[in-house]
Amino acid sequence: MLPMSTEPEYQCPLCCDMFVVHPRKDDGTVDYTRVVNCKCVEAKIALQKKKALINWCELPVKTEDFTFENYKVFPEVKKAYDAALALAQGGISNPR
Ligand SMILES: [Zn+2]
Repeated sequence: MLPMSTEPEYQCPLCCDMFVVHPRKDDGTVDYTRVVNCKCVEAKIALQKKKALINWCELPVKTEDFTFENYKVFPEVKKAYDAALALAQGGISNPR
């Protein structure tokens, strides 16, 4: 008799915590010759960079709730905002 739930619990079911996934080709089939960062990694990196930029700017804690939609771009934080936005859009790839 086999136990019913032997599936390991992954934080990310997409990549099974491998942090990389095989991209899909234009025809919808999986391209096993390539790997790309999983969405969970992209999101994690973007979040870390954003937090780092916020810390770097020494902004008040309440700005953590800001999103790109409701974010007020003050001149002092424009540079950080632009960088965070570029990161969120995948403009910079700096794997660490
Ligand atoms: Zn993942």
